[in-house]
This record gives sequence, structure tokens and C-alpha cells, in this order.
Amino acid sequence: MATAGFTISYLGTGAGGCIMRNHTAIVLECPGGERILLDAASGNTVLRHAQRLGMSPTDFDHCLLSHSHPDHCEGLPHIEMQRSRRNPAEQPMRVYASAAALADIAVLLSYPTRGLSVDADGAQRRDGRQVISFRPAEPDEWIELTPDVRAKCAPVNHIGGAVAWRVESAGHSIVFSGDTRWHPPLAELAEGATLLIHEAICTEADRRRADGAAHATAAEAARIAQLAGVQSLTLTHIDNAFHADTESLAAEARSVYDGPVSVASDCWQQRV
Ligand SMILES: [Zn+2]
Ligand SMILES: [Zn+2]
Repeated sequence: MATAGFTISYLGTGAGGCIMRNHTAIVLECPGGERILLDAASGNTVLRHAQRLGMSPTDFDHCLLSHSHPDHCEGLPHIEMQRSRRNPAEQPMRVYASAAALADIAVLLSYPTRGLSVDADGAQRRDGRQVISFRPAEPDEWIELTPDVRAKCAPVNHIGGAVAWRVESAGHSIVFSGDTRWHPPLAELAEGATLLIHEAICTEADRRRADGAAHATAAEAARIAQLAGVQSLTLTHIDNAFHADTESLAAEARSVYDGPVSVASDCWQQRV
């Protein structure tokens, strides 16, 4: 009987325009110890903050991407480079995303000075070694990441190809919204989850901003949590205005959702 749950390490928790926090990347450490990377932030965020928390890029054989906005995926080539340097025999990093997002990722990896050749299957170093393997994900199709960990995605309402992810292991489940507007079908993917990690760009007081940028308010995130009956809610993708004081986000969410609400910060680790 497995009772151990997930440990979630928030490597980056800032919105795309946030200059106070790093961009979005999250590590799920599964009950069996497997480490799954959710989004790849920009720049070297994953490398620096994973190291601070005692992890290595060679731990991340599986990367689930929510969408192809730069604040969620531009770190990928840096992660690949460090994996190849530290362990040249490393298996390719498997990158799971919608087909539309992977088409954009192929462009990102094709930048001429990276030294990668890129095709529909992924990326190779010039010596022919496969270093990234593209895994197109179909909505609602379970993917067996390891014998004990599975994941599936569902479309959200942000840009073309944007998805949310559900990861399950040993009876525990984590759902990550990625970036999205208020999107009621997300409650189906999140139904009964141990934890919903949902973006919250602002409060209802500034909701025109959320609408205009295809993001959600704290109340909308909480409404999904309430509809889905999840056990806990964590808000992330925090913008400059809320960086220093996240209490208004948390308070708005608590007025809508009955369960425990947290607001993530860079390098915070949560156990559920
Ligand atoms: Zn974003
Ligand atoms: Zn986005």
C-alpha cells in the first residue's frame, strides 16, 4: 500500500512579463522517485534552481510542455546542452507536447549556432546522437512515462496547441493548467486530483487584463478547483504586481474554493 505522495519543486513561478521571478518550470518527484519536468522556463532557470535543490538536468528524462510561449520552453536547449556535457551517453530527453507546440519547439532548437540538427523525431547532435525525442501527445490519451507513472493532456484556452497535464502515480495525481483563460473543461481533467497547480495572473479587480492576455484570475483558478473537487490548489505564474504580496490572490481563491490554497514561489517545495 503506497502512501508516499509527490514532492513538487517550483523552479520558476513568474508570468511571462514578470521581472521579479523566474519563468515557469516545475519538477514533480513521484512517489517512486522519478522526476518529471513540467515546462522548461526560459534561459538557465532549470539548471540553476534544480542545482540549488539538489537535482541535475540528467534527472529529467521526461519533459511535459504546456505550450510554446517562450517563458515556458526557451530553457530546453540549455537543459539539453548540460545533459549532453555531463553524461554524453544519456538517453534522449523525451519532450511531450501537442503537435503544434512541438513544431514551434523544432524552430527553437534549429537556431544555427546550437549545433543541433532537427527533424520531426527530435534533435541530434552533429555526431548523430539523438539528444531530444519529440513525443506528440493526443488529448485524453494516457502516456506511460515509466512503469509507475502515467500522464495525459487536455486542450486549454490560451494559444493554439496549449494543453494542461495530469500526472498520476501510486494513487496520487497532480494537474497543471499551464497558461489558460477560464476553461471549465479543465475541471474534468482535474477531477478529484491530489493537487491542482493553476495559473493566476491577477485578481477579479483587474480581470480585463486577464481576458486580454488569455490568462485566468485567482477566482477562476479556484472555481476550477471547486468544480473538480481537488484536494488542494496552488497558484503560480505570478506577475510583478503580486510578487511581494500574494495574499490578495490567495484570499480571492479561498473565497471560492473550500480546500487549502497556496501560492508558489521560486524554489519552494511542496509535499502532497
Ligand atoms: Zn506564461
Ligand atoms: Zn503563455
